Amino acid sequence: MTILVTGGAGYIGSHTCLALLEQGYDVVAVDNFCNSSPESLRRVEELTGKKVPLYELDVRDEAALKAVFARHDISCVIHFAGLKAVGESVQLPLNYYENNLLSTMTLLRVMDGAGVKNIIFSSSATVYSTENTMPLTETGRLGCSNPYGWTKFMCEEIITDWVKAKADWSAVLLRYFNPVGAHPSGRMGEAPNGIPNNLMPFITQTACGVRKELVIFGDDYPTPDGTCVRDYIHVMDLAEGHVAAIEYAAKHKGTEVFNLGTGTGYSVLDMVKAFEEVNHLSLPHRIGPRRAGDIAQCYANPSKSRELLHWTAKRTLKDMCADAWHWQQQNPRGYDA
Ligand code: NAD
Ligand code: UDP
Repeated sequence: MTILVTGGAGYIGSHTCLALLEQGYDVVAVDNFCNSSPESLRRVEELTGKKVPLYELDVRDEAALKAVFARHDISCVIHFAGLKAVGESVQLPLNYYENNLLSTMTLLRVMDGAGVKNIIFSSSATVYSTENTMPLTETGRLGCSNPYGWTKFMCEEIITDWVKAKADWSAVLLRYFNPVGAHPSGRMGEAPNGIPNNLMPFITQTACGVRKELVIFGDDYPTPDGTCVRDYIHVMDLAEGHVAAIEYAAKHKGTEVFNLGTGTGYSVLDMVKAFEEVNHLSLPHRIGPRRAGDIAQCYANPSKSRELLHWTAKRTLKDMCADAWHWQQQNPRGYDA
């Protein structure tokens, strides 16, 4: 069975390609490399000993995408391709709406033409309104606070409406919490461009001296230690969640939405302490002001995924910290030589 992975060279996409190959699926990847490098998939091939046909194209390029579907016998698509930086989406909203919405609509049209009826979509916990109580269930109120979040919300709507109109389609919308960590080999991991926005790559870059210190954004939140709480999930657990979603989509019609999180929240200070302990180092850090738009707590209720996808996150916070550091040490400049 062949799975087409859009955005396959990206952080989550590349780890998912590896998980799919390990489970015996064939994988075809497409990516325009606007936020990645083909080296990630070369490493997937190195680790698995299997080939991943990779096409450099923009998912909005209908003709180019059609040619890929014509060349391979694709059963299901996992759609990771998209822009994902919250702050940038506030500065460049049209880029986000154009890229994320048009790529999704083009993909659905091309899939339809090719008779491919199963799609797994990368959504985000950011689609949940800040008014919900924790932990978040899939029936929680929706509402976003930035253009990136709205693109995820709108893509969920577009896919849901499309699948409603097509009786024999299946869509699985996966709302990720906070993916962190790397493959335990240290050969694959997260390689952000420029100064990282996210906590874990900022921690690893500080630990190896690329950044001077970690600034913790606020310690006056209504949480046990005053710093924000998030549901960090190991990227390999997340990748395996996609394998479970493919199996689910093969057996069920219609659209279903699932949280992919661990169900456990850790504070920023918990993360710093765990990273220091696990990796036997000291991380320069200080408390700074709050970051605009941050919420105090965000963590999942993962029961629905456990019951219907038969998936649960297995890796520990220790694994996340050890694997992220292993990757950073082996690849101080990401995938660049
Ligand atoms: P990433 O940037 O590493 O991967 C996305 C990939 O898509 C990149 O390789 C990029 O080059 C490619 N891409 C973007 N637009 C494209 C287009 N029009 N055509 C072809 N390729 C295109 O990001 P990631 O962290 O791996 O995230 C994957 C998906 O998961 C994204 O849709 C993201 O919004 C979503 N997501 C990520 C997180 C997170 O914290 N990393 C959380 C929730 C949801
Ligand atoms: N954070 C921080 N310093 C940083 C980056 C992040 O204190 O340099 C905090 C941030 O305020 C949030 C948590 O770490 O509470 C996770 O941030 P990230 O951007 O990784 O994820 P998100 O806010 O999207 O959940």
